[in-house]
Amino acid sequence: MAKITLKNLRHSYFPEPKGPQDYALKEVDLDWQDGGAYALLGPSGCGKSTLLNIISGLLVPSEGQILFDGQDVTKLPPDQRNIAQVFQFPVIYDTMTVRENLAFPLKNRGVDPATIEKRVAEIAEMLEVTDMLDRKAAGLSPDNKQKISMGRGLVRDDVNVVMFDEPLTVIDPHLKWKLRTKLKELHQRVSHTMIYVTHDQTEALTFADQVVVMQLGEVVQIGTPEELFERPAHTFVGHFIGSPGMNVLPAEVKDGQAYFEGQPVTLEGPIASDVPGTVEIGIRPEFVSLAETGIPATVSRVADVGRHTVVEAMVGAHKVAAIQNGPAPQKGDKVHLHFTPEQTRLYADGWIASEPAQKESAA
Ligand code: ADP
Ligand code: MG
Repeated sequence: MAKITLKNLRHSYFPEPKGPQDYALKEVDLDWQDGGAYALLGPSGCGKSTLLNIISGLLVPSEGQILFDGQDVTKLPPDQRNIAQVFQFPVIYDTMTVRENLAFPLKNRGVDPATIEKRVAEIAEMLEVTDMLDRKAAGLSPDNKQKISMGRGLVRDDVNVVMFDEPLTVIDPHLKWKLRTKLKELHQRVSHTMIYVTHDQTEALTFADQVVVMQLGEVVQIGTPEELFERPAHTFVGHFIGSPGMNVLPAEVKDGQAYFEGQPVTLEGPIASDVPGTVEIGIRPEFVSLAETGIPATVSRVADVGRHTVVEAMVGAHKVAAIQNGPAPQKGDKVHLHFTPEQTRLYADGWIASEPAQKESAA
């Protein structure tokens, strides 16, 4: 196991990149602590697999370095990095039995037969494939094949890191939840460094202690699931995480006061007197309430989603979502929206521009 450091990493698939648009990774600096459970979260095409393949050595980055425990491995081939990687689609040997497939990474390293048998039995039990150990892999269903593929990634206990690249894509929805929970348990038991790549916020937030959110080849925020929810550093994070995501509303700032559709809005804390760029207010639906006074709005949609109601209301041409726990209004109702000030943030060109709320002093 190792601490992984990525330094000034950039990658272009073009031999002669002409500008930032030609880079699949723009500039990545990251420290993955030894033993951490990380998720790499972002939409399709943002550079997740590129980053993973650079860590495993399948790709050599155009610029920058990868260090394992301070040692430069940038130019080392995959087999010298001591890494296990699980891909989106199963990578197994069809002609071997399930047992032989699971044993392969250990046998390859000269592990003794007794240890192999024990490890294979443990992993098979965890993945609930014990009853198929003696079957040929060729006859398995796609999700069983993928389970075996994951087992091959997990069977060694001497690796620097185990990386999963959207491993649950081919897995049945009900099994997905189960496997995700198992991976989390397994991480707690073996404390390998694990990096789990996904475009699905639920997968990322349930698996990881730390989530790295990427957009367009850049890391936009690293934090615990709570931190990403509480105080998104970028409107993209606010929007991408949460259900529904954060409301991102066009705003104006005059003399240190923010306005939305001409209405003054109290923010979490102070802002600079002059905020350059495109200014927006970010407020999560959880912190928008329907009140006696506030911003006048007209309810446009009411959706009962079980635990609560999602109310959408129009302020001018802008839709604002509010999560309601009490009695819900009806479509067409005139309401007033109240934004919880401590949870109301200002963004400039996407990046957070308001100071956090002052903590009450202990004095
Ligand atoms: P993700 O895994 O987040 O979906 P990728 O790392 O696969 O994203 O891709 C990042 C960007 O690099 C995308 O624009 C993709 O089209 C491009 N890309 C990925 N692989 C290659 C390749 N082998 N050659 C050229 N471009 C690639
Ligand atoms: Mg990918």
